[in-house]
Amino acid sequence: MASIDFNQIEYLLAAHYPNQWPEDNVPEVAFAGRSNVGKSSAINAITRRNGLAKTSKTPGRTQQIVFFELAMGSRLVDLPGYGYAKAPEKLRRHWESFITDYLSNREGLCALVIPMDIRRPLTDLDMTMLECCWSNNLAAHVLLTKADKFKRGKAMNVFHSVDRELRSQPRTSVQLFSAQARQGVQEARQALTGFLQDHKLGEPPEDADQPK
Ligand code: GDP
Repeated sequence: MASIDFNQIEYLLAAHYPNQWPEDNVPEVAFAGRSNVGKSSAINAITRRNGLAKTSKTPGRTQQIVFFELAMGSRLVDLPGYGYAKAPEKLRRHWESFITDYLSNREGLCALVIPMDIRRPLTDLDMTMLECCWSNNLAAHVLLTKADKFKRGKAMNVFHSVDRELRSQPRTSVQLFSAQARQGVQEARQALTGFLQDHKLGEPPEDADQPK
């Protein structure tokens, strides 16, 4: 499998409304996680581009979908963080409709990367995101972030218990990750490469050209 060069990435646009989304014509992997779990840091570590995704000092504020274009004709997409306790109800409702719209109507979307703080994985909102993947037939890849906060043995215990919990679900994987320690970057890149390269977008069924 040819690898994708994740360093070759450029900011494309930030969208507040669906009519601002770029054309739905290439494979996309989107990142969605609770505010402050380390989503932006993960995107920056995977692309080796500090400052590409904005690490936010005011979690829950940015209600926009940010699209980044990879050189090989695919995209990474940064969805606004969810579950910020102090977010006003109106913002939360906007987030829900915004994200549901994107997750259910995007042909190019092949997978969701869901970063979860290793100290608090699988919250109710995380489970809702996972269920959203399962019901929309999207692959889900969980990053257990800030793994450097735990010693290796404890981190592995969390990994095994989350893996056990999710193992029976379709197209769902989990890994340890630390942007700070640069742990799991290569594994994450391999997962993304698999999702982006396996996704067949708008192709006719295999036997469409066969004479009847
Ligand atoms: P986001 O809101 O999910 O995009 O999270 P950010 O990437 O902005 O990170 C939130 C906070 O967690 C920041 O203070 C980061 O410095 C910290 N953080 C992010 N990744 C790591 C990590 O791998 N290890 C540790 N210890 N802290 C991290």
